[in-house]
Amino acid sequence: MQTAYTKEELRSMLAPLRARGPVVLVPTMGALHEGHASLLRQARRLAGAEGTVVASIFLNPVQFDNAGDLAAYPQTPRQDLHVCESCGVDLVFMPTPGHMYSKDRSMAMEETCLSTVLCGASRPGHFAGVCLVVCKLFNLVQPTDAIFGKKDYQQLAILRRMVRDLDIPITLHGAEIVREADGLALSSRNVRLSPEHRAAAPAIRRSLLAARAAYAAGDAPGDICAAVKATLSAIPGVRVDYAELVDAATLGPISDENRLALLALAAWFGEVRLIDNIELSRS
Ligand code: AMP
Repeated sequence: MQTAYTKEELRSMLAPLRARGPVVLVPTMGALHEGHASLLRQARRLAGAEGTVVASIFLNPVQFDNAGDLAAYPQTPRQDLHVCESCGVDLVFMPTPGHMYSKDRSMAMEETCLSTVLCGASRPGHFAGVCLVVCKLFNLVQPTDAIFGKKDYQQLAILRRMVRDLDIPITLHGAEIVREADGLALSSRNVRLSPEHRAAAPAIRRSLLAARAAYAAGDAPGDICAAVKATLSAIPGVRVDYAELVDAATLGPISDENRLALLALAAWFGEVRLIDNIELSRS
């Protein structure tokens, strides 16, 4: 496994590898866990024995709308390299923020529809920051494929829109959410939960499963969302940011019940904001 710390190193390490087969990119912000590992293993399978798997580890300051969240974000670079190695990654790109962004950067990337709802409504500028860094990574790595987790369902939808609208010649793949045995979706932020909130957090998954059953049984979206909010708000120190039932493709209101729906939520467990989601259908 090779490690590139600069754009120049990345380009020169990648150049001889391109002709061999697919180049599959997995962008991450580090503090890697089993959720990231599943994306990396999927990338390895997709790239095949001859292809190249690139993982980027970059805590992107531009996508943080909250300075405290950025400062508290866990960073475990040595451990991350071990995870990458054990998942068969060929090349890790670990730039510094100062190297990634020019001081006088004046370009921005804005998606103007899907970014206005759910997390986009409560985290202004977040998805613009995500699109900017992913676009830069796409230009630097020029992968054939890239893999993103459905844990960040809205992010995946927005990046699919970016690739479509800007004719970026990269195939995106969505990977299933990896969970703890008790149902909590793995997240780099989970280590920041208090013991009490860690113990209570599986209620998120339970409320989503109850929502799926209620939706299949024909319950009204408004009632389903209210039940999820009531369950989670009853936990001491928990504040629900949003719990919404939307069309899984448009992220807008459900207009056709035959289409796949999505219940997405974000909730503050003390100082830690957790997100999760579940796909729903009426049958
Ligand atoms: P992050 O480091 O949080 O930016 O995540 C990097 C990638 O890993 C994103 O595409 C996430 O959606 C994905 N990811 C994070 N947590 C999980 C999880 N529990 N299951 C599957 N994918 C995940």
